Amino acid sequence: MIDNHLPTAELQALDAAHHMHPFTHGAALAEKGARIITSASGVWLQDSDGARILDAMAGLWCVNLGYGREELVEAAARQMRQLPFYNTFFQTSHVPAILLAKKLAELAPGDLNHVFFNGSGSDSNDTNLRLVRHYWELRGKPEKFNVISRWNGYHGSTMGGGSLGGMKGIHAQGGLPIPGIHHIDQPDWWSEGGDMSPEEFGLSRARQLEEKILELGPDTVAAFIAEPVQGAGGVIVAPETYWPEIQRIVKEYGILLILDEVITGFGRTGRWFGAETLGITPDIMTVAKGITSGYIPLGASLVSDRIAQVIDEGDEFAHGYTYSGHPVACAVALENIRLLEEEGIIARAGSEIAPYLKEKWESLADHPLVGEAKIVGLMGSIALTPDKASRAKFKGDAGTVGYICRERCFANNLVMRHVGDRMVISPPLVITKEEIDELIARARLSLDETLERIEAEGLNVPA
Ligand SMILES: *Cc1c(COP(=O)(O)O)cnc(C)c1O
Repeated sequence: MIDNHLPTAELQALDAAHHMHPFTHGAALAEKGARIITSASGVWLQDSDGARILDAMAGLWCVNLGYGREELVEAAARQMRQLPFYNTFFQTSHVPAILLAKKLAELAPGDLNHVFFNGSGSDSNDTNLRLVRHYWELRGKPEKFNVISRWNGYHGSTMGGGSLGGMKGIHAQGGLPIPGIHHIDQPDWWSEGGDMSPEEFGLSRARQLEEKILELGPDTVAAFIAEPVQGAGGVIVAPETYWPEIQRIVKEYGILLILDEVITGFGRTGRWFGAETLGITPDIMTVAKGITSGYIPLGASLVSDRIAQVIDEGDEFAHGYTYSGHPVACAVALENIRLLEEEGIIARAGSEIAPYLKEKWESLADHPLVGEAKIVGLMGSIALTPDKASRAKFKGDAGTVGYICRERCFANNLVMRHVGDRMVISPPLVITKEEIDELIARARLSLDETLERIEAEGLNVPA
């Protein structure tokens, strides 16, 4: 069905004239015209020309439950009728925020029994930054101010989130990073591992955390923040030696560990949280995206007993957002979690869908353009290379070949994103085996067409 709307070209012209897009080169988009999505169901999108597109990105890593779930629509409508808004400032509360906080405390690993609600992933990380510094102030150690994070990590694009992240393109605009944020290298063996084995490399990258702590002075470091699996950085899966060593280091030096589970939370890795899949014990966890399957914005900081107790006993925490614990968003999150649980979607994603997808995804590694294929649960990446044996990069600008591949995917009605010259997927958890076969077939076709194109243009050359 094509809804009654203006012709695509007119919509594109209006879009270019008035709509400023995030992370988009405006002039380039104006010339090309945006692809306009009009409806969706399950894992399928429909655009303004009626094309049916397989969404292997779950929107933006978030539509875990798939599109078109009436139950979430009903939950929002019910809550809007009963109480569309009330705040949680000044000693007031409401039922959806209370029930969701309780539910999150049950689901979260360890003693993360306390929830501070935010509006998104970015502002959840801003909350976390203030929370850890304030925690150490209350403990009488205000000099514990520095926070360590990783190059090519992603923690959002607000001043705090963008500073915590390690995206040089974000730092280059608007005076980031803010003071007291320090970055170490990422555990990306494929691109940066050199002659080391993955195991040696994982240890050496983890030990950069120890070196940075010693360089800054352990008494000046508040926290380390990282994604269990880097998402926006290209689905970078750390070698197995990495996380145990990180855990040892934060414990030894008394540094808080913030796990940014904005993508990995709510089933993405085949368990409720990446912390469980990878065996990590955080002090604070950031969640957003999948918490509502993207149907409505919501973020949260899940906080340990120890930290919450110190914060609660101190002076008023002078922080919060008008929409902290928005009742409609909380009602949708509760319904989303109910469906994920009662329909066994995460259990099935972990035990049935993830192993099937892994086998099919890794089979792409035999393609001449594909170096490594990595996958954890339902988030995967492939590294494109002109020479597998040497793990070579392409000679031209990084991302040129990835962009060509993404465009071929689009032309073949598959949404797969590129990060530099890596291609990434993160499909809805409800994807079926037949749809995975379709995804892989379209990916392979797109890789063939990319190879043909770059050979014709002389781009398939090692740097
Ligand atoms: C998307 C993302 C964020 C930012 O969330 P927004 O809701 O876009 O502000 C933060 N951290 C990670 C790991 C993300 O993937």
